[in-house]
Amino acid sequence: MSAAEARQVIQSLDRGLAHYSTIGVHLYGGEPLTNLPALRALVDQAAQAPRGRFSFSITTNGTILSDEVFELLEAGRFQVVLSVDGPAPVHDQHRRTIRGAATHARTMRFLRELRARTHCWVRGSSVVRAGWRLADAQRYLRGLPVDVIKAQAVRTAPGDKLGLDGDEREQYLDDLDAAGDQVISDLAANRIPKDDRFSARVLQLLKGETRYRFCGAGASIFGVTPGGDVLPCVLLDRAQHRLGSVADQEHSWVGAGRDWQESHGPRNECGSCAALPLCGGGCPAMLSVCGAEECDLVRKTCSVAQRIHEHFRSQPIKLLALAGVV
Ligand code: SF4
Repeated sequence: MSAAEARQVIQSLDRGLAHYSTIGVHLYGGEPLTNLPALRALVDQAAQAPRGRFSFSITTNGTILSDEVFELLEAGRFQVVLSVDGPAPVHDQHRRTIRGAATHARTMRFLRELRARTHCWVRGSSVVRAGWRLADAQRYLRGLPVDVIKAQAVRTAPGDKLGLDGDEREQYLDDLDAAGDQVISDLAANRIPKDDRFSARVLQLLKGETRYRFCGAGASIFGVTPGGDVLPCVLLDRAQHRLGSVADQEHSWVGAGRDWQESHGPRNECGSCAALPLCGGGCPAMLSVCGAEECDLVRKTCSVAQRIHEHFRSQPIKLLALAGVV
């Protein structure tokens, strides 16, 4: 993406999403920090809009360190999702440079400098996979100087060698239960839980809301490719789901998104699933990759969220910590 195209993205989102008061732009790749001219153009163009109109987040592997990187992250007040799977032997197994060099030490240096040089909020993000369990990933992330943690099973097609086998999946479900127990003890002690995976669903239960869709893809969420194609979500296949381009009149991709959303509701099999009111019908991008295995994890997450909500039925005010209020 060129700097001019990056500016066009911000302008197009600003005009096309005029019916929303705020717009969050999340950058990921690949590695977004490989294109600093485009990043600068996004931040500079967004600064032309009224304060608070745009906010930024980024998923990065933290291997590109320069004064300009930290200056831009601070200028955009980025929320940073830092990919760090675990200690060096775990992280470096799969996260290597194109020449095969290990990256863990560099990622840790990035984190230290990010903390020292910016006010950015940071999420530590780990991929759980064969041989690396959820509880271990969470323990590792909790030891890092981050605000929030996210450790999640790798999303692969069934049978992939990185995917969890039957026993590991059982263990993963048990670890989700333990993560729920940790949230309950944090809330009981008036602490904001570091693992926020259950928060949206617990707050949904607190508000008594039903989720009619998994997410706002096509209506309140859009993906924009480096070439400027607009998709309902950047994880969806470009050829099949393209809504238009940021170079088009905004009403055309906004209208196509609305049509896309109306034609992509929950699947028929969701109608008999007890998790539907909390799940909303599953991620349209991930269901096609992971299938039923994704549903097992979603159902478990929903049931743990229900357990947390139930635990505080007589003290619902405690749950407000999940919205960052203590
Ligand atoms: S868990 Fe699976 S089957 Fe159940 S509502 Fe969600 S996507 Fe549908």
